[in-house]
Amino acid sequence: MIRFENVTKRYPDGTTAVDDLSFDVREGELVTLVGPSGCGKTTTMKMVNRLIEPTAGRILLDGEDIARTDPVRLRRRIGYVIQNVGLFPHRTVLENTETVPHLLGWTRAKRRARAAELLELVGLDPSVHGSRYPGQLSGGQRQRVGVARALAADPPLLLMDEPFGAVDPVVRERLQSEFLRLQEQVRKTVLFVTHDIEEAVRLGDRMAVFGPGRIEQYDTPATVLGSPATPYVADFVGSDRGMKRLSVTPVEAGGLEHPPVVRAGSPAAEAAALLAERGAPYAVVLDADGGLRGYVAAGGPTSGTVDDHTLRVEARVPVGAPLKQAFSAMLQHDAGWTAVVDGDRYAGVLTPATLHAALRRSVNEDGADGRNGSTGLPDAAGAGADEDRAVGGRQAEPDATAS
Ligand code: ADP
Ligand code: MG
Repeated sequence: MIRFENVTKRYPDGTTAVDDLSFDVREGELVTLVGPSGCGKTTTMKMVNRLIEPTAGRILLDGEDIARTDPVRLRRRIGYVIQNVGLFPHRTVLENTETVPHLLGWTRAKRRARAAELLELVGLDPSVHGSRYPGQLSGGQRQRVGVARALAADPPLLLMDEPFGAVDPVVRERLQSEFLRLQEQVRKTVLFVTHDIEEAVRLGDRMAVFGPGRIEQYDTPATVLGSPATPYVADFVGSDRGMKRLSVTPVEAGGLEHPPVVRAGSPAAEAAALLAERGAPYAVVLDADGGLRGYVAAGGPTSGTVDDHTLRVEARVPVGAPLKQAFSAMLQHDAGWTAVVDGDRYAGVLTPATLHAALRRSVNEDGADGRNGSTGLPDAAGAGADEDRAVGGRQAEPDATAS
């Protein structure tokens, strides 16, 4: 979709803002450009819509050299969102949102319908906010209008330069979530500039880590965090990169442990015998449809059925959730393991050892060059997902309640 080929930008005062930059962005991909202030991110972005012209090299958009396209027509194919938005203060929210459709000569009815649709898409009510002026909105609402305006003419490409930089952390977090949800629906190709590593990791399909005038590493967040290419990148992503990786590595059904399973309604004595035979500390209780009822602990009562003794599994997460959510569930419920569910069905359990193994695997898969697959942690003893291995964890024994 976008290709930078040996692009250099030198400003008239001799500053080299970008030096021999080459990278590409695939269609439908959200790429974050991240790095400290002054390293050339904005310059890089503005060369795509020709607000700045390169000194050398070329930029291709869908295979076409943008230097040969008319800049005005080029910009109509590219949505542009900047910090503090640049909304027209004397135009209403609806009028602001219609800016590009207006330039494109859409009829008034079509413009209005599109603007209203987009305001709803970014979480604003057109009948409430549409007739307001930008000064009558909160910072977060103005940013949403900025995004709606950029999407109005349905451009295939969005350029976003620190779009959420001017709002407080709580609003920023919400805007990020909303934007991710929006991107799921519209699947634009997005270049997103930020100096915030957390934001870059959270939003990016891939991230380009900028040093002065150049890209130090261009890869998925999991790989950048798990295997920084240079000491500069390692320093920039921070010493807590292991923690950050928990947010970008999903729980996978293939990497779980499988403690013994007993059926709801079966005799408690049978469950006790199974646990003793397997040397396992607990068994998972499932209903006939494979749904998770709870668990029974070893050494418990043997009278009646397992239903009489089933304890609630407090810590549970869906397949695909970030490892961070699983870890957080274990901490919150003081549990040694968390159950993993796939829709209504139980899929297995995650323990600290399998969590560590999953982090390690994500580096090895992503960093196919095998550069440095270390999680920065010593190997957790016995990490693995053996079917028959006894698991050592405890689920919330202290405050477990029978269900
Ligand atoms: P970033 O967006 O990463 O903060 P910029 O692309 O804005 O970085 O700037 C990169 C470098 O180019 C900086 O050293 C900045 O001072 C310089 N620069 C940016 N714009 C100009 C300009 N118009 N004239 C001269 N130098 C500039
Ligand atoms: Mg900038």
